[in-house]
Amino acid sequence: MTPKSPSDSPTTNNIDLMHRIRDRQRGCLWGLAIGDALGAAIEFSPPGTFKPVTAYRGGGPFGLAPGEWTDDTSMALALADSLANADWDLNDQASRYVQWWSTGKYSVNGTCFDIGITTQSALRRFQQLRDATQSGSREAQASGNGSIMRLAPVPIRYGDLYPTDVVRLAHLAAESSLTTHASDLCLSACRYMAVVLAGLMHDVPRDEALSDDWEPLRSLRAASPLHPTIDKIAAGSFRRKNPPEIRGTGFVADSLEACLWAFHSAADFEEAVLKAVNLGDDSDTTGAVCGQFAGAYWGYEQIPASLRQGLAKSEMIEAAFVRLVDSRSRSSNAGK
Ligand code: MG
Ligand code: MG
Repeated sequence: MTPKSPSDSPTTNNIDLMHRIRDRQRGCLWGLAIGDALGAAIEFSPPGTFKPVTAYRGGGPFGLAPGEWTDDTSMALALADSLANADWDLNDQASRYVQWWSTGKYSVNGTCFDIGITTQSALRRFQQLRDATQSGSREAQASGNGSIMRLAPVPIRYGDLYPTDVVRLAHLAAESSLTTHASDLCLSACRYMAVVLAGLMHDVPRDEALSDDWEPLRSLRAASPLHPTIDKIAAGSFRRKNPPEIRGTGFVADSLEACLWAFHSAADFEEAVLKAVNLGDDSDTTGAVCGQFAGAYWGYEQIPASLRQGLAKSEMIEAAFVRLVDSRSRSSNAGK
């Protein structure tokens, strides 16, 4: 891939910009894991039935230790590993999800203790068909948040497509969803989210990246309309609602809207992610999705040290991030 950012010229400003982009890319992946870990203790708890989360807390349905993360992060690590090793190969992506499911690779404690129903059915289909473009369900009722929860590696690895080819970036994001979640709603959610994440990582102000008439969003709509439910969110529905209308459920549209609600007006990373997690229900995943937005916007260095240091197996997150960005540089150099 040919680098298209102004960072091609090694001026001081461009080195600063490259540093900021790298920090935001790192923040996006770490933010995913941190949000997941913060929400894990109250996953499946209905709103109002738990003491609000203010820091890592052990317990939850899987009896985890404080700072341990779940399937959201495991699948993101599997996806990151695939992009770093195999570039773009959907069968390789699905094979690594199967490896996580069957052997516990990419998990925090060596076992796959948590897998969504839609993901499990899709991976079974993949084992039969060996064609990841056909494994995810296309049914509207299978529109869970299982592909947006793991999306970060795509806009990190292919961030150079921003801003010149956001349509291609969105296409890759949608393809990454096909392996497990192939409904129109899920594909649209991934297309929209990948482009917003890439914009945030490239210094676009938050209000601009979330505005209804943001130029890259217009390009996306012109190339192929978003599902109407996702388009309403992209148009700013999250600004006009509050809980209980905003809900952190496992439905992809609820999940995306809830994360943007938590993110769009928060003062910092911690406030955004805690607002998301404390909606309850699918709290780990609401945290993981919001953590991607918040990490991409505020960057790794702005994430509180207590959250970075308390994250379990954080060396796995950092190693995956480094491999991902290194593979990107190798591919950029190869194109020169
Ligand atoms: Mg989870
Ligand atoms: Mg979840």
